[in-house]
Amino acid sequence: MKLYAPKYYNQFKCIADKCEHSCCIGWEIDVDPETLEKYKALECGYGKSINDSISFDGDAHFKLCAHDRCPHLDERGLCKIILNFGEDYLCNICREHPRFYNYTDIAEVGLGMSCREAARLVLSSTDYAKTEEIGNVDGKKAELTFNGRVERERVYSILQNDGIAYCDKLQKVHSEYEIELLDDAFYIDLLSELEYLDESHRELFMNYSADKRAVGTEAYLERALAYFVYRHCTEALDFEDFRARLAFCLFCERLLSSLAVSQGVCDLNGMATLASIISEEIEYSENNTESLTY
Ligand code: SF4
Repeated sequence: MKLYAPKYYNQFKCIADKCEHSCCIGWEIDVDPETLEKYKALECGYGKSINDSISFDGDAHFKLCAHDRCPHLDERGLCKIILNFGEDYLCNICREHPRFYNYTDIAEVGLGMSCREAARLVLSSTDYAKTEEIGNVDGKKAELTFNGRVERERVYSILQNDGIAYCDKLQKVHSEYEIELLDDAFYIDLLSELEYLDESHRELFMNYSADKRAVGTEAYLERALAYFVYRHCTEALDFEDFRARLAFCLFCERLLSSLAVSQGVCDLNGMATLASIISEEIEYSENNTESLTY
């Protein structure tokens, strides 16, 4: 199956030891069966350390160290599995992060904004609507009765209309898809009930307000919204499903704007940090994404 990606995709490179918020800290890392077999064949040297670090309590996963660090992350922030055996010995989850895939009549890949380096790239790329073929991937073409990519292009054409102000573009998306904006109290209630990786983010998210529009950040907000739409709306099953997913994306955009105002942020780095917090707390939790999609 042909694989497509946004134009900026190939510019992504993990910055490893220079990363200020490593994905090797704070997440449980599952070891897929194929990689597990490769590890089992590594009986001595660092291979033994790898095998000793795997827990079989539930799905095979690495036992995290203090402060939820991956046991293979060294003090410089480098991966000891890569240093000893090369990238081919990474388990799937580590090799793929922060990528995600959409399957419709074609396959598409994107970069999740939970990774701050990916978030910086997403928020600084002007050509978000353009995708290009980058290779092939296993998968079967879906038999579609509805194609989310077509609606996605419609949203993008509104966002890319340079003749109108950003706030008017948002209004147009709301009105074309008949998406109602509910009271702040409704969203604050939902946010207060979410599960959080970092409890301090519950308090941070209480700054949500639809009226908090961050001046000077419109370009970043537009690219963030385009990313949310790419990630969440493309696989919609029908028009109603697309609308529900789009409402979720618009909510994430408002949350990002609210946090930018409350934290006094308007530069790329600050916006990428806030976007990555929203991504890891909401997008990477199925329960939270479901609670906010209605
Ligand atoms: S969060 Fe991104 S840049 Fe940082 S270590 Fe993970 S993949 Fe690399």
